[in-house]
Amino acid sequence: MLNIVLFGPPGAGKGTHSVKLVADYEFVHFSTGDILRAEIAAKTELGLLAKSVMDKGELVSDDIVIGMMRNKIRQNKDAKGLVFDGFPRTTAQAEALDKLLEENGIAVSAMLMLDVEKQELIKRLQKRAEVSGRADDANIDIINNRIEVYNDQTLPIVDYYKNQNKFKPIDGLGTIEEIYDRIQAVIKTL
Ligand code: AMP
Repeated sequence: MLNIVLFGPPGAGKGTHSVKLVADYEFVHFSTGDILRAEIAAKTELGLLAKSVMDKGELVSDDIVIGMMRNKIRQNKDAKGLVFDGFPRTTAQAEALDKLLEENGIAVSAMLMLDVEKQELIKRLQKRAEVSGRADDANIDIINNRIEVYNDQTLPIVDYYKNQNKFKPIDGLGTIEEIYDRIQAVIKTL
């Protein structure tokens, strides 16, 4: 079983490439952002709680997102593989993910980090806002805050995976096909 953490800043292409991995490898895709947006659409208590945080570009609490993943992992422990998109986003979440996987007799195979510079991220997110309808894509201050939150709270996870020899940086610039070829080349080595 191949369990991939697809990592990178907002706008790096995690969602796009997750969809391609699901189609080609039959992996199960977990996007905490998508799960949270579904909770908001369903007007659940959790959704109401998460919305104000997400609209500001801040992180939803570790307890909430870790709790969301617990059942999903248990229900999919016999899949061909799992792709984690937008999770973990803090070192506490990375530690919790290892524990949740271990409880099910599985582990993270690799963390693939899509490397994209800030101006390109902003360009992509502003373009995505035209179709995504996401409030957090539509406002430059929120985009900047999300990138800042990523740099402060999420980027330290790189060291966590480096220490486990699971860190695989990938050049995230180029066409979708070029980037996806690089991702597949790394997956072949796992
Ligand atoms: P995304 O769709 O991955 O860009 O996530 C959208 C928003 O959902 C983020 O800006 C956070 O507010 C929230 N979110 C998604 N995943 C997480 C996570 N793993 N931890 C905390 N907040 C998250």
